[in-house]
Amino acid sequence: MAFNLTRRKFLQSASLAAVALPLSKAVASESGIKRSPHEAKGSLKNETVVGGICEMCFWRCQLVGKKRDDRLVKIEGNPKSIDNGTSICARGNAGIKLLYDPDRLKYPLKNVGERGNPKWKRISWKEALDECGDKLKAVQDKYGAQGISVFPHGSTAKYPMHFFERTVGTPNVSEASFFQCRGIRDTAYLATIGMAPGEKVDMPNSKVIFLLGGHFGENVHVSHVKSYMKGLQNGAKLVVVDPRYSASAAKSDIWVKIKPGTDTAFLLAIMNYIIKNKKHAADFIDEYGDGFDEFATGIKEWTLEKAAGECDVPVAQIKEVADLLAANAPNVSIHPGRHVSWYGNDFQRQRSLACLTGVLGAYYVKGGWVPAVTPKVGKASWEHKEHDEDHNLNLNSDEELIHPYTPPGTPTELIRDAALTGKPYPIKGCVLWGQNPIQTIPGQEKMKKVLKQMDFVMCVDVMPTDVTMWADILLPEVSYLERYDYIKTGTQWDFAEKNQQYISARMPLAAPMFERKDQVYITNEIAKRMGYEKDIPVKSIEEMVDKNLKVAGLSIEQLKKEDGIHIREGKNPYNMPDDFEVIFYNEDLEDAGFPGIPTYIPVEQPPAGFARLLYGRVPVHTFNRTQNNVWLNKAMPSNPVWLNDELAGKMGLADGDEVGFINQEGVKSRTTTTVKTTPGIRKDSIYMGHGYGSANPLMSVGVNAGVDDTSLITKITVDPETGCHGMRNNFVKFIKDGKIIDIPSAA
Ligand code: SF4
Repeated sequence: MAFNLTRRKFLQSASLAAVALPLSKAVASESGIKRSPHEAKGSLKNETVVGGICEMCFWRCQLVGKKRDDRLVKIEGNPKSIDNGTSICARGNAGIKLLYDPDRLKYPLKNVGERGNPKWKRISWKEALDECGDKLKAVQDKYGAQGISVFPHGSTAKYPMHFFERTVGTPNVSEASFFQCRGIRDTAYLATIGMAPGEKVDMPNSKVIFLLGGHFGENVHVSHVKSYMKGLQNGAKLVVVDPRYSASAAKSDIWVKIKPGTDTAFLLAIMNYIIKNKKHAADFIDEYGDGFDEFATGIKEWTLEKAAGECDVPVAQIKEVADLLAANAPNVSIHPGRHVSWYGNDFQRQRSLACLTGVLGAYYVKGGWVPAVTPKVGKASWEHKEHDEDHNLNLNSDEELIHPYTPPGTPTELIRDAALTGKPYPIKGCVLWGQNPIQTIPGQEKMKKVLKQMDFVMCVDVMPTDVTMWADILLPEVSYLERYDYIKTGTQWDFAEKNQQYISARMPLAAPMFERKDQVYITNEIAKRMGYEKDIPVKSIEEMVDKNLKVAGLSIEQLKKEDGIHIREGKNPYNMPDDFEVIFYNEDLEDAGFPGIPTYIPVEQPPAGFARLLYGRVPVHTFNRTQNNVWLNKAMPSNPVWLNDELAGKMGLADGDEVGFINQEGVKSRTTTTVKTTPGIRKDSIYMGHGYGSANPLMSVGVNAGVDDTSLITKITVDPETGCHGMRNNFVKFIKDGKIIDIPSAA
């Protein structure tokens, strides 16, 4: 395979081209890289390379790289970007430390020990690919394509995911970004406004920004945070509904300290109050609403008083929020959220958010919900082949969908149950690509059992993680700084009058090191070995990117000439399509056996002595993916547990005390963290950052740092409409010095 040669050739030409680029020239001359006094002037070659796209989180900020003698020494935002601009976050800056992390996977490895307790032996790529191809083919021959399960995450996992799903024919693909994150949001909005909402709400022009559980500032996505901050600078009022005094709550005009799991009741009461007092957007609803009368009648029971009792929020505060929203409608941003897999009743809450936006007439208006109108590019990948039988696990014995509003793929729990029972068929092959289901999916021990019973497990990743310990073959992938990748399109972040669109493609800022390969090489080589050589859609990642750019009249060479980003005139995002409607009462949902009108479904409350385990993001980590990054570890090495200060006093705990946890099923945390006492959390809940407490000793920096919250999420709940997980239905007590301490709030 001539892939390496092609890549090196490109990098040589890219470096030369970069020197000639107008932006590169300008930036290089200002780069100000300081020389050591011992170095002769002119002995170092400084240059700026364009076209990088960050992947320290999924947001994909546009980058330039500063190189010194071919070593990447600094990452910055691309000055040409109309998305993140020159700004990047702490994690984006720390990408350098991922690139040169000595713990990174370097060579193909074979596990000659046990799954979960591996002993690694370095093998050649040929041996590794032969084994992956042969073993997956053996599973396919014995159990059918459906016997292979795929757990993908991130942009490099798309190409292999398409291969296994479209060409090989397994339906058993489960993406964490859907089934443990945003899938519920997307399908609930689809059932209400006919499209997934994304996150591009017009916050810069908003008069009120309404966040339900959103904790911007801790959850950092650069252009998104810029948009939020601009809204606040422009005078928007901020309403934050959260059991915890988050970074956003700290900036809010109204902080609603809601009881976890009751958000839908809160939203229904707000809407009922607005409608009852004729403060709703009647003209908008007349024109675009569907089923509004049934909806208004159906939520009538939700008085302010009833919601106040359910949500543990004062009547006056619910009224205050409703009045504020109604007085400023339609220029209000009801944010759809992102990681919304909370309580297993989440589809109803997301439907309520979509309906509230409709009640306020806040679709396609300044300051409201406005979709990103992005340019069209190609999507070269594997073709769909005809597959004989339907092995959809999401069908019951009457051939009806179990979770009819599921996002693309198969709900994770259905795959795991089939794997463990062998019914309706065995699942014996597993492809893990960039996903770490040990620390993503509730029921860690269940996941381990699933992996244990496989005939073959292969894993592709950049870093060792907890799940890489379960692979038979572990393949090292190039990082986002060393490869081409899918195209990123978007629009100007601030909804300026002169609306613009951009097209960019991830281009390498550094040459690959050791024996790491990219997703197209690895997938194609496995495909050849499984007998699919003639179906291979592209020979290299560069070919794929060029094909996709061609649809937009561009090429890699052209993008390089344009400093990595092509900018063109945009379309007016406020133009509402003729067929737009807000389905307040959804008959199809009702026909499928679910409430047609958003409905509050109560969740279990903590038993005596326990508090609910809540978790979230921290600003300097992207869950487990960044735990081994030496800069980010230094910034936040552990995940202190938030505990209400009054309770802490009663429990004899103080700031900095080392504690562990035991959950309602008797499962104990393997590691400990420290206590952070604060009045900023409800007494029925505790909170910690997600993704800590890795068990993989190959992560020399991140191993055993803090507590792995996923290990305590053993009660598995599933959102009935979508099959996505609810992940905040577990309860814990503290352990200090080996002694279990009850949490008195619920006693
Ligand atoms: S928000 Fe930060 S980590 Fe995410 S893509 Fe942008 S710079 Fe990278």
